[in-house]
Amino acid sequence: GGPDIGTPRRTKEIIAKHGFSFKKSLGQNFLIDGNVLSKIVAAAELDEHKGALEIGPGIGSLTQKLAETAGKVTAVEIDQRLIPILADVLADRPEVTVVHGDVLKLDLKELFETQFADCNGVSVVANLPYYVTTPILMKLLEERLPLQHIVVMIQKEVAERMAAKPGGKEYGSLSVAVQYYCVPQLVCTVPHTVFIPQPNVDSAVIKLTVRDTPAVDVPDEEYFFRVVQASFAQRRKTLANNLTAFVGKERREEMTAMLNRIGIDPGRRGETLSLDEFAELSRNLYEAGW
Ligand code: SAM
Repeated sequence: GGPDIGTPRRTKEIIAKHGFSFKKSLGQNFLIDGNVLSKIVAAAELDEHKGALEIGPGIGSLTQKLAETAGKVTAVEIDQRLIPILADVLADRPEVTVVHGDVLKLDLKELFETQFADCNGVSVVANLPYYVTTPILMKLLEERLPLQHIVVMIQKEVAERMAAKPGGKEYGSLSVAVQYYCVPQLVCTVPHTVFIPQPNVDSAVIKLTVRDTPAVDVPDEEYFFRVVQASFAQRRKTLANNLTAFVGKERREEMTAMLNRIGIDPGRRGETLSLDEFAELSRNLYEAGW
């Protein structure tokens, strides 16, 4: 029902009708391109039995497209001024629920239980506010929400870091964290011109397919991520040097001997280690009690 919201004309109309002004501090860049919206929705593999959680619906351009495809759409929006606008433009969409709140503060487990109990799978689909992309994604992943896919528009550079393979300069702790929980896939890059107002950075759509079990087996997740962080602490330094700061100077010899024993050259840089190697490394450091 109703004309597409995600067009330049309709978006300008809605904004004028409600006297809305954009807040840069909330990362408000609204999508005005039907093709990009269709690509995002298609990547999420939704159907009438599935649910979609949208973060930051804005004036509802993506929400409307999701409602045409999914059985249930719940959209969390922080900006109180958008709530009556969404109620107006989505009035003919009973499958949509708008929740006013900060996604970083919401109890998402409870939200899932109340909103998606009847769904056969739920995915997150969003054009994310760029200032909080990483905290939002890490919250979704760390809470182990029962998600199928996460399809999000984010800053292109962040998308490339998430999907990066070992060896390049984009590969870092974000790549490892995302790939521990998901299989990433870049869907498309997107020009500035599909947004009002236009952001200063390039954008991309990334699809994260959430794994049933993490990519590697580690004895303690928090410890694993601390080892990963430590390995990337100073990117120009060798693994041996970065890990010395982690285990303590007095254990340097023992630690490098351990690296050699497990077949990881202490002279390598953290950015060359695969997830399997990080897992093996963290298992050995953990067992040594460091
Ligand atoms: N989905 C709309 C679109 O594509 O046109 C709007 C996308 S805009 C990039 C990001 C949206 O997220 C804005 O509506 C903003 O108010 C909202 N937002 C920002 N921070 C948020 C937070 N912490 N929790 C929920 N929504 C947030």
